[in-house]
Amino acid sequence: MKIYLSPPHMSGKELAYIQEAIASNYIAPVGEFIDRFEEAVKKYTKAHHALALCNATAGIHLALRTLGIDEGDKVAVSNFTFIASLSPILYQKATPILIDCDASWQMDPEALEKALKQERPKAVIVTHLYGQSANIEEIAKLCQKYSAHLIEDAAESLGATYKNKHTGTFGIFGVYSFNGNKILTTSGGGVLVGADEKLMQKARFLATQAKEPGFPWYEHITYGYNYRLSNILAAIGVAQMEILDERIAKKREIFSWYREFLDNRATFMPEIPGSYGNRWLTTALFETEPLRIHEHLLDEEIESRPLWKPMHMQPLCKDFPFYGNRISEQLFSKGLCLPSGTQLTKKQVAKICEKICEIF
Ligand SMILES: *Cc1c(COP(=O)(O)O)cnc(C)c1O
Repeated sequence: MKIYLSPPHMSGKELAYIQEAIASNYIAPVGEFIDRFEEAVKKYTKAHHALALCNATAGIHLALRTLGIDEGDKVAVSNFTFIASLSPILYQKATPILIDCDASWQMDPEALEKALKQERPKAVIVTHLYGQSANIEEIAKLCQKYSAHLIEDAAESLGATYKNKHTGTFGIFGVYSFNGNKILTTSGGGVLVGADEKLMQKARFLATQAKEPGFPWYEHITYGYNYRLSNILAAIGVAQMEILDERIAKKREIFSWYREFLDNRATFMPEIPGSYGNRWLTTALFETEPLRIHEHLLDEEIESRPLWKPMHMQPLCKDFPFYGNRISEQLFSKGLCLPSGTQLTKKQVAKICEKICEIF
């Protein structure tokens, strides 16, 4: 039986809700479950407004478009992240400014300040990496000081907090992902949250093809997107939101098992003081070549994955300005994401760790 990195884990209520959605005949990207899903995310994160979307990448794109980020503009973005934090900047033909991480693995505020001074980006997209909060208070202060819009890529960090405030709710926009491998899933899905009612209305308008109100026909002054979530997938989301606390508790328990079993074999991703992560993936640094561990686990049908390859090392990004101390390069050369599915047992984690230790 194969052990996957982070497979979907249904609560058991999804099918009943899907049946309800089908019975209502709202099979479109409108319907009661979309409203309920948005309400559930709002209630949990205490965000003021929420917009359910087909994925989180669309959410980041909408945030940039809504803020008027356009050709020739600069946007600072976490360097140690998944490509989807950055690609929406390219959709807008703006220029990404790559900000490396510090020892916390998260965006380095010092490097960010240098970039804010020298490049004057209009916006900053900060990733809360692997379910852990970034140094978000400091980053928010810097954004304020240099008048840059703060967008939080909280795709991996639903439920994670900094000083009891939810990641995703510090900036003008925040985005959560419900992709198949995330802590919760709707198969594919995303939620954009924000505090500014007007901006969120604009995002909603752009997400539904930018149809001007007040006309019997479809009237267009600008173009939009088809970015909304289906009511059926939102039904899955409503069921998933009900068990978020359980999933976080289990993810954190899995992390504690790895720490117990790998004690002096690995160094784990830190948690910034004052923050509470969801430990979406347990990630660790090893003193040996991580790809050797990766391949050894694969022989046992256990899936692991190298850490995100930093953006500045990607051929796509070789010409973008870069700020920082290249700490992400060291992390990438030593790190691995370990199986973190919430159906794992302690026995399975013990077996995975046994296999890892065979390498040393
Ligand atoms: C998964 C992920 C995304 C994209 O989310 P989708 O819902 O798949 O579009 C963006 N940023 C980060 C950091 C992610 O891990």
